[in-house]
Amino acid sequence: MTDCIFCKIIEKEIPSYPVYEDDLVYAFLDITQTTKGHTLVIPKKHVTDIFEYDETLASDVFTRIPKIARALEKAFPDMVGLNMVNNNKEAAYQSVFHSHVHLIPRYGKEDDFS
Ligand code: ADP
Repeated sequence: MTDCIFCKIIEKEIPSYPVYEDDLVYAFLDITQTTKGHTLVIPKKHVTDIFEYDETLASDVFTRIPKIARALEKAFPDMVGLNMVNNNKEAAYQSVFHSHVHLIPRYGKEDDFS
C-alpha cells in the first residue's frame, strides 16, 4: 500500500532502527520511545488491524513476539517487565493503520509511563 508509512519502512524508503526481521515480520524501534527499547512488531503484509488477520497471519506475528521480547530483555538488562499493546481502530487510539504490536519495556520505579 503506497501511502502507508509502515509499508514504506518495510521497503526501506523511510529509515527505521531494526530489531528483528525475516520474510514475514519486521520489528523496529518506535520513534516515540515511550520507554527505552519501545518496539513495534508488524506483519510485512499490509493489514489495517486485528480484524483483518487470518490464523496464518496471527501465527506469523504472535509466534515471533516471545523471541523479540527476549532479544529486548538481553539488549536492555535493566528491564524488569514488558507491556504488549495493540490498538485497533481510531476509537482505540490506533494512529497508524498498518497493524502493529507495541512492545514497551518497563524499568520499575524510574519508569514514569503508566
Ligand atoms: P498511538 O499513536 O496512539 O500509539 P498506534 O498504536 O497506531 O497509535 O501507534 C503508532 C505508533 O507508530 C506510535 O507509537 C508512533 O510513535 C509510531 N510511529 C509513527 N511513525 C513512525 C516512524 N516513522 N518510525 C517509527 N515509529 C513510528
